[in-house]
Amino acid sequence: MHALACKLAASSATGGPNLAVMSRLQLKHPVVVGVVVLGTAAALLAGFPIVSTAVAAMAAYVILRLGVAMLAGLARPVPEPPPAGELRKVKIAYRCDICGTEVRMTVSPTEEPDPPKHCQEEMRLMTPVE
Ligand SMILES: [Zn+2]
Repeated sequence: MHALACKLAASSATGGPNLAVMSRLQLKHPVVVGVVVLGTAAALLAGFPIVSTAVAAMAAYVILRLGVAMLAGLARPVPEPPPAGELRKVKIAYRCDICGTEVRMTVSPTEEPDPPKHCQEEMRLMTPVE
């Protein structure tokens, strides 16, 4: 465990672009610091050597911060659709041959869009493109 922790700490410390992300997250996530501090205190009270405890604390801190950074990346909003000027107004009806659902498409990036899917099948075109 000691060697693994050393390797993790060393490889993470050299990751250039991550440093900016991590320093930005530092102020936002005092919980990570608190968890590491509590874990360090518990390890010292349990009688682990101070050097091993320090290395483990650094590794835990880096791992937790990387995890938080990854979760923050997942939480970013999806890109916006193209501006309204690039979209065409259409009036197309589609029907699902399997369950009978009908939908009408009103705006599309192209005048002949791909049909939407329903029941995992492409819907059938009902009204032609005007
Ligand atoms: Zn359907």
